[in-house]
Amino acid sequence: MEERLPRHSIVPKVDRIPFTLATTVGRERVYIEEALSAGALTGDGKFTGLCERWLERTLNAHRAILTPSCTAALEMASLLLDLKPGDEVIMPSFTYVSTANAFVLRGAVPVFVDVCANTLNIDETKIGAAITPRTRAIVAVHYAGEPCAMDAIVDLAEDAKLAVIEDAAQGLLSSYRDRFVGTIARFGCFSFHGTKNTTCGHGGALMVNRPEDCARADVIRDRGTDRKKFLDGDVQKYSWVDVGSSYYMSELSAAYLLAQLEQSRAVVLKRQNICRAYRSALEPLAARGHVRLPGAEPFGSGNGHIFYLLTQDADVRHKLLAHLGQHGIDAAFHYTPLHMTPAGQRFGRAPGSLPVTEDVSQTILRLPVFATMDRSQQERVIDAVLGFYA
Ligand SMILES: *Cc1c(COP(=O)(O)O)cnc(C)c1O
Repeated sequence: MEERLPRHSIVPKVDRIPFTLATTVGRERVYIEEALSAGALTGDGKFTGLCERWLERTLNAHRAILTPSCTAALEMASLLLDLKPGDEVIMPSFTYVSTANAFVLRGAVPVFVDVCANTLNIDETKIGAAITPRTRAIVAVHYAGEPCAMDAIVDLAEDAKLAVIEDAAQGLLSSYRDRFVGTIARFGCFSFHGTKNTTCGHGGALMVNRPEDCARADVIRDRGTDRKKFLDGDVQKYSWVDVGSSYYMSELSAAYLLAQLEQSRAVVLKRQNICRAYRSALEPLAARGHVRLPGAEPFGSGNGHIFYLLTQDADVRHKLLAHLGQHGIDAAFHYTPLHMTPAGQRFGRAPGSLPVTEDVSQTILRLPVFATMDRSQQERVIDAVLGFYA
């Protein structure tokens, strides 16, 4: 027999609001069934091709290559740059570890630069001072899908003869002026991880934005062999011709991903609406100095990937997180600045101070955003935040 609490003490069962939720959005089951029936699950099949053509057409890009993750796409970019031990790569410290790891794997040194307070993207005015004779590349991370100051970054890189890589892991369908992020620099890297707007669990894409990089990208992706030339009938047999690894996505994942890509614009619109509603509801708190909200989008349009606020200090954030938790709301924060992590200190360096990065990592709080979030769920989150400050 089940034990019951006295009537008056029964707490209404509240549905938890997850921080993020990956759901099917369209024809996932249909395409997976088709991939299964075709019995060809090895990469570079029909669905991989359809996803790659979708990315190229939609983003107006030269070449898209599906990869097992954004991490893998960054590693491919790093291999394509032929980095040598001791070469330096400038990047923000406020980012995910993969941004740095891909270059550390080649023996390169991540050089960490602070971010702008209004976008949390790399501060382009601090890049110049970090350039040395060993600098080879700059990584522009489009944080929260908000575009970096690409014109200034590309100009700096051209003057110093550096490559630019866009870590557009969070930036699918975000635009910078009249172009899509991920298609502007020499290489762009997208993520289709379960936490991103468009997902297949684990997945990514490398955008190869210069025709002259394509042939070598195909070799690196295919374990360092010229198998693609062989399949295209250009050589009689294929062999080992360069460094490489296995950077294919399974056709099962690609089948799922195609359905997600087809709905990705609708998902972005929903997420943008959710972010707009958060912003207008929380603006009074910002006006009273309780929180800081993201700055206006200076260069283009984001994709609603993240909504964050900045609290006054780490203690308030801790209390707000606990308050939201008690109200059944999963909020989150992220990035231990890479220059403060054990590996960041071992492999990288920070030539200047990073006050914005260090402040934001202590005060940022991300509210739940997912495409299927309904109005009443969002109102519960807003009420809980407003209630905390009341
Ligand atoms: C998610 C993310 C990655 C890693 O993506 P995976 O597909 O999980 O490898 C890299 N960089 C940034 C900025 C990310 O947000």
